[in-house]
Formats: sequence, structure tokens, C-alpha cells
Amino acid sequence: MSETGAVPTAPLRARAEIDLGALRANVRALRARASGAAVMAVVKSDAYGHGAVPCARAAVEAGATWLGTATPEEALALRAAGLDTRMLCWLWVPGGPWRQAIEAGIDVSLSGMWALREVTEAARSAGTPARVQLKADTGLGRNGCQPADWPELVAGALRAEAEGLVRVTGLWSHFACADEPGHPSIAAQLTRFREMVAYAEQQGVRPEVRHIANSPATLALPETHFDLVRPGIATYGVSPSPEIGTPADFGLRPVMTLSASLALVKHVPAGHGVSYGHHYVTPGATTLGLVPVGYADGVPRHASGTGPVLVDGKWRTVAGRVAMDQFVVDLGGDEPPVGAEAVLFGPGDRGEPTAEDWAQACGTIAYEIVTRIGTRVPRVYVNGEQAG
Ligand SMILES: *Cc1c(COP(=O)(O)O)cnc(C)c1O
Repeated sequence: MSETGAVPTAPLRARAEIDLGALRANVRALRARASGAAVMAVVKSDAYGHGAVPCARAAVEAGATWLGTATPEEALALRAAGLDTRMLCWLWVPGGPWRQAIEAGIDVSLSGMWALREVTEAARSAGTPARVQLKADTGLGRNGCQPADWPELVAGALRAEAEGLVRVTGLWSHFACADEPGHPSIAAQLTRFREMVAYAEQQGVRPEVRHIANSPATLALPETHFDLVRPGIATYGVSPSPEIGTPADFGLRPVMTLSASLALVKHVPAGHGVSYGHHYVTPGATTLGLVPVGYADGVPRHASGTGPVLVDGKWRTVAGRVAMDQFVVDLGGDEPPVGAEAVLFGPGDRGEPTAEDWAQACGTIAYEIVTRIGTRVPRVYVNGEQAG
């Protein structure tokens, strides 16, 4: 199966079809764009809702040599599933599973002295050095070590390295505004990153990888690539922002198609209120289609009255409120059969809306649209074979 359109619709209430062939092609496109750098496929949050294990496998098949997760639990789950690729996880709280991460050979990120203390203690009891990457806050103002605190963290890490408790494998940071081309913070963060890396290296740190590039930086800012790039959203074929381009502009193809089977098609008279609160009232006699997915499945309630859906070749709009398990579209008198496919979003080449269209309709970003699709929606993997 090489085309989404060729895939038969299973009789499911709803399905998120995940095109692993598209994912592999996206990883290859990202490798080509960042030639000279290794690619870390970011598979946090269940691979942005696409399914961490199958997506991580496909990314590795396509040449990603690192996997990135937010939490250590996410990385440990990938190891448990048999993925033996290098991995980095960066979101730790005190008491985290340092020792398990060390024993699983997972690189861990440190943003402060508390984390260095915990990881060295765990390394001592494991009898194995921890692979640590020091994270610099070069201006994002979120996680990462402030420049003023960097000398203390670098010195502490070097002491622990001298004691054989850690190996400093990476120096890294994260952008605040890489998706806004020309934003002055980009150059400022890059300068700060170079300074903080240079300081650590002067002190004796010998990192395997220095990295700062997320998807928008990977796609549009070659000077940010260093030794490794960390694309997340682009791996899934979604553009980080409409301003920097469409997926097709970068040779990327959306991986997820979300669809549902119409659960009811019925005639209603003019003036009929639709769904909770009656925020939509039929302007004339019409037909309504019941789409059996709702906010419990991750369809944003903010899509009430705005979300686009392809039914029977036509774009329809969510009529009235999105409820927990279902919403309604006005079919304008058309009578598609019950069970007909309603496509919420996909690559767009069958005329269906994209995750970006949903983001615009809901006042959010496409990242949130795909990531929030819930566990009640089965993921159906296609093109899983290495062929495509
Ligand atoms: C999520 C994340 C990424 C990937 O970001 P995208 O914009 O999805 O490419 C990279 N690095 C870190 C630290 C992240 O948290």
C-alpha cells in the first residue's frame, strides 16, 4: 500500500491512520536537509500522538541515530520495546529513575546541580558511569542552566567525570522563536550557545554532540545544525508554523489521518437546534451527519462551530458544540450512507483538511491537534514494511 487512498476503511468508529512510509520519507528528507549532522527523532508524548514504538522504529530504519523523549519513563519504555538506539531524555524531577536510565544506557539531561547530585549518586550505586548532557538556557527561559550558573554546573560535571561517575556526552540548548524567521532572539541564542559551549570546552568538556535545532531550525536555519538536529513535529510531516512554509515546501508529508464513520444521517426541519446549548440552528430543512468522536478523543471543544470535516467529497463544518464523544455536521441536504467516512484531517491530497486547518479553526498550533488525539482512537499503521 503506497497511497493513503488505497487503504480500505475498517469498520471502526474512528481511526488515526499512521503512515510509517511517510514518516520514513520525512526522516530521510530531514537528514538530507541537515547533512553533516545526526538526526535525533523526537518521539516524546507518544510520538506526538502517533505511537512511540512504531514511529521510533520507523525513524531508526530511515537513519535517525538518536531518539529524544521528554521523560525518562518514555525513554525506558522504548528500551523495553527493544530499541537500542542512543536516547536522550530531558525532563527530570527529583527522585526520578536515574539508576534505571543509567543501566539502560540512556543519556540524561542536566539543567542544575540538584540533578548532577542525584545522577552521580545513582551512578555510584549502579557502578556504571552516567551519560549526561548539560543543558544551557541560552534564552528560552524554560528548562536549562542559566549562564550565571553554568560555571558551577560545568565544574561539577567535570569533577564527576574525573571520578568516573559521569561521561559528559553533550552540550545543548533549545530555541524560543525558531519558528519566527528573523526573530532577534534566534541570533542572540546562537551567540550565547556558542559562548557557553566554548566555555565548557575550554574547561575540558569533550562532548560527542552539541545541538540546539528543533524542527523549524532544522528546516530553515542551517547555521544551527551543529552535530545533531532534534526534529519533532517535522518527523510527523507537519510544518512547525504556517509562516515558515507548508509541509510540501520542505518535502514532508503528514503521517496521521484522522477519520470516523458517520453514525447517523437524518433529515431535520428548519430552525432545529443542534447539540448542547443549541449554538447552531438549522437555517433550512437539511440533513445532519453524526460524527462519533468528541473531546474525549482529543477533538478540541474549541472546534465547536469551526472545525472542518471532509464528508462525501465536501468540506463540512462542525455544527454547534463538540461534545465528549460526538459532534454533528450539517450536510446541506446530501445523504451519504451511514458509515461513510468523515475525514477530520490528513495529508490533504484527497481534499481533506489538514491538522494545520484544524489548528487555525481552533486558535492553536498543529502540534496540539495531533498530539492530543486520545487513546480511545485506535492507531492503524500502514506502510510499516521497509519497502516504501
Ligand atoms: C519537543 C522538543 C523538540 C522538538 O521540537 P519540534 O518543534 O517538534 O521539532 C526538540 N527539543 C526539545 C528540548 C523539545 O522539548
